[in-house]
Amino acid sequence: MTREAQQFASDNYAGICPEAMAAMTAANQGSAVAYGDDEWTQRAADAFRTLFDTDCDVFFVFNGTAANSLALASLCQSYHSVICASSAHVETDECGAPEFFSNGSKLLVAPSIDGKLTPEAIRALASSRSDIHFPKPRVVTITQPTETGQVYTVEEVRAISAVCRELGLKLHMDGARFAHACAALDCLPAAITWQAGVDVLCFGGTKNGMAVGEAILYFDRSLAIDFDYRCKQAGQLASKMRFLSAPWTGLLETGAWLRNAQHGNACAQRLADHVSGLDSLRLIFPVQANSVFLEAPSAILDGLRARGWRFYTFIGGGARFMFAWDAQIARVDALGRDLRALAMAQVDDRIPA
Ligand SMILES: *Cc1c(COP(=O)(O)O)cnc(C)c1O
Repeated sequence: MTREAQQFASDNYAGICPEAMAAMTAANQGSAVAYGDDEWTQRAADAFRTLFDTDCDVFFVFNGTAANSLALASLCQSYHSVICASSAHVETDECGAPEFFSNGSKLLVAPSIDGKLTPEAIRALASSRSDIHFPKPRVVTITQPTETGQVYTVEEVRAISAVCRELGLKLHMDGARFAHACAALDCLPAAITWQAGVDVLCFGGTKNGMAVGEAILYFDRSLAIDFDYRCKQAGQLASKMRFLSAPWTGLLETGAWLRNAQHGNACAQRLADHVSGLDSLRLIFPVQANSVFLEAPSAILDGLRARGWRFYTFIGGGARFMFAWDAQIARVDALGRDLRALAMAQVDDRIPA
């Protein structure tokens, strides 16, 4: 099979980073105890506790939909509700899994352009009804960074958690790209999670250089009771758990988790720099993490496709480009040059002959 030129349609196009692969290979020596009672799983959980500087409970599942859905289900009774932004992955891209695994907890959706929730929006939804006929608000979930690449500052997370505490709500963070938020803010993982009032974090491994796998961290360990049974029932308990957990030791112990994210963020910024100052291209959102969302005339988007570029337009209302740990600088520059050339051709078209 010939290798195709690199594309930036999704950060899930990337392969496994060397640090995760080395740990997988190391874990593949001999046999180990099954179902998570092995040394690799212990070591990975300890690496999280070290990184977050706290004694949290850690679980490993196969993907982000399972991590989010099971975490939210663990925080809710079936008659509860979960407040999220309208563009939240749990609402738009998980096929009803949060409602399914919670046996019906309803998602209450707050309108949001950039994917962020605000204390005001949370308060408005949580206090919109207090009668028996409406599902009782119980959890707030925020995505860090959001689906459109916006990063909550520490202050913003703190303000949200303050409202949660006041209203008796738990705070869950969907961190499918959590590392990219840490890289963007240049802050310690603890500062934007438990120190800012987050109760449960889903930390993405897949978009950070692993083949597969997400970690769920319970900072409030009382909330994790029986969570292992919930994972098993949902088909999320890996029997050869070491292969889900070992790659985390590779990412966390070497610092690759942060380097990978820094690289993705830098490539997004690099593409944004390429297209700055062009009239026919507009960044829909400020570039803060590893994504670039471009609004462009259809002629430019068609031109890009004709030049072989792949991208999605169903998220964020424009062309989306995502940069993973393996993004090649030369390809980023090639995309930037193509965009610039197509934009300049647009301008030429508009000049009367
Ligand atoms: C990718 C992603 C997930 C996880 O998706 P899976 O395909 O289920 O692994 C969760 N939340 C956000 C914001 C994502 O971008």
